[in-house]
Amino acid sequence: MQKVALIFTGGTIAMKVNSKLQGAVPSVTPEEIVSAIAEYTPYENLETFEFSKLPSPSITPDKMHELKSIIDGYLENPAFAGVVVVHGTDTLEETAFYLDIVSSSDKPVVLTGSMKNASELGYDGLTNLVSSIKVVLEPTSRGKGVLVVMNYAINSAWEVTKTHTLNLDTFQSVEFGPLGIIDDEDVIYFRERTQRKALNLKSAFSDDVHLLKVYAGMGGELIDALVDSGAKGIVLEALGRGNVPATMMDAIKNARQAGVAIVIVSRCIGGRVLDTYGYIGGGKDLVRHGCMLGGNLSGPKARVLLMVALSNGLSRKEIERLFA
Ligand code: ASP
Repeated sequence: MQKVALIFTGGTIAMKVNSKLQGAVPSVTPEEIVSAIAEYTPYENLETFEFSKLPSPSITPDKMHELKSIIDGYLENPAFAGVVVVHGTDTLEETAFYLDIVSSSDKPVVLTGSMKNASELGYDGLTNLVSSIKVVLEPTSRGKGVLVVMNYAINSAWEVTKTHTLNLDTFQSVEFGPLGIIDDEDVIYFRERTQRKALNLKSAFSDDVHLLKVYAGMGGELIDALVDSGAKGIVLEALGRGNVPATMMDAIKNARQAGVAIVIVSRCIGGRVLDTYGYIGGGKDLVRHGCMLGGNLSGPKARVLLMVALSNGLSRKEIERLFA
């Protein structure tokens, strides 16, 4: 049987409550987790690697980049069927998305974690890890891009988002539903992912790309500050179909004149942005002033794509095509 690499980065799945701090902190080793699994399912083909013990708010683009080269080492080895990355859930979707857009292998890469720590009743870490191993070993998981497996559901890194601060089924593909499920010993796929092409971008990224959420009455101060600080790109999580208050337009025009790439996505949880509105600050006005539309990507994912696109040296046309 082919091997499965388990790469541990940290997260709640590797935490217990510390009685002094009265809070969950990193304290469970990969070996403890794997031997807990062995009590239920005696896998003999697992290889563990402790990449870090980080809560995922501390995962940076640098770490994602480093992680990618560790994953590639396993994927290039014919003895391995694929890789499970164990990750905190807070930024899991950003790491998953990053790995997807820079991935060049057909072998499955699955990200998982847990919502409950190992001190809590109903700890979901072991179930999620076993489900992820099953997905990696399932031959039809090949070529599906990077996957997120939690609570018996398989989701695409492109589509999934963390929707709830507490629920075990927090990871949802809100617009499309899951790609499939893990039902007992079976891994069942219902559909293909909506993003069909592998992008195969180089894994380098530019860090000077920022994300701002747009709100009623917003002005241009934050954009001005980012331009002054040397930002290369800004993603605006805009209103509705992709509109901003008219009071932001001067700052947006200045940013464009300074060569800053601006991508517009929506703060709505579903649907794509479009240049429907012609008023000042409407989507047409934004496009007229050189902003690009980011489709139905969330703000954090659009930021990751812009970071990688800029450092791949893509032209404006190519970046537009990526987001289309
Ligand atoms: N705050 C935790 C983290 O992302 C949440 C989790 O892992 O579920 O590391």
